Amino acid sequence: MKEVKTKNGIKKISPRKINGLDRKVTSSSEHHFSYLKEYVEAIFLQKYPKTDFILPWIEYNNLSDFNISDNVESVGGISEEAHFIMRIVTEYHLKQAFKAMKIDMNDPNVGGEKGTPYRMTKMYCGNGLDDDSELLSGRWSNRPNMASFPNENQQKFPITKRVDIVSVCSHHVAPFSTLFREDAYAIISYIPDRMVLGISKLQRIVDWVARRGHLQENLTKMIYDEVSKAAESTSVFVRLSGLVHTCESLRGTQSNEGAFTSEYYGGDFENYELRRDIKG
Ligand SMILES: [Zn+2]
Repeated sequence: MKEVKTKNGIKKISPRKINGLDRKVTSSSEHHFSYLKEYVEAIFLQKYPKTDFILPWIEYNNLSDFNISDNVESVGGISEEAHFIMRIVTEYHLKQAFKAMKIDMNDPNVGGEKGTPYRMTKMYCGNGLDDDSELLSGRWSNRPNMASFPNENQQKFPITKRVDIVSVCSHHVAPFSTLFREDAYAIISYIPDRMVLGISKLQRIVDWVARRGHLQENLTKMIYDEVSKAAESTSVFVRLSGLVHTCESLRGTQSNEGAFTSEYYGGDFENYELRRDIKG
């Protein structure tokens, strides 16, 4: 991978992208998934009979890999058609993985059209760019609009909101969440500067960030960054308390002690007393 400076900072791009976007796509043999082209095209044309297949096919194959905790906007975004192609390719390979594991695909609860590989694809990729409800949909879904309003009352004390966290660990793609234990919670607190956020939108931005693969500590900082950006304030405090990681509680060590707490803060929240006063 090479690093390229853009006006939004440093962007990592694959060597194939260095010499211009379109030149390398002239030969289909360069396509990473070229062996599936005909198979994918047939399914694509059922859904999009009037759309040229080759452009989204090229778009998908040229899309750079990006971190499991990022959104596709980090590599320039994706079209709805290319996302559909990705789902076909993913489902195909999940089917192969099931066969590799000797899972009988004649079982009607697993195989068949729209069987388990299809359902898993949906769970990991979302059903489109406006689907924000799946376990990894935050990698693909459009960034939610974060409504903000002028801080007319000049409010300078913290606004605090409880949110739910649904995420998966990047090590096992197993869920971790605030929803598995009574006393688990996540709070976001921020001190407005010029703008006040539409508070109901906080859950949506948290979902957009969380529904990807994460280490909890990185997720905590990423939520801080997004809220800080939206609120135009560095005085943000994020605390994820007592989250249960199912990769730990249900397998491996099967530990129930695994509830994990993390926090990230900046600005006025450097002051311990201020953080202490924020009650979950
Ligand atoms: Zn894990």
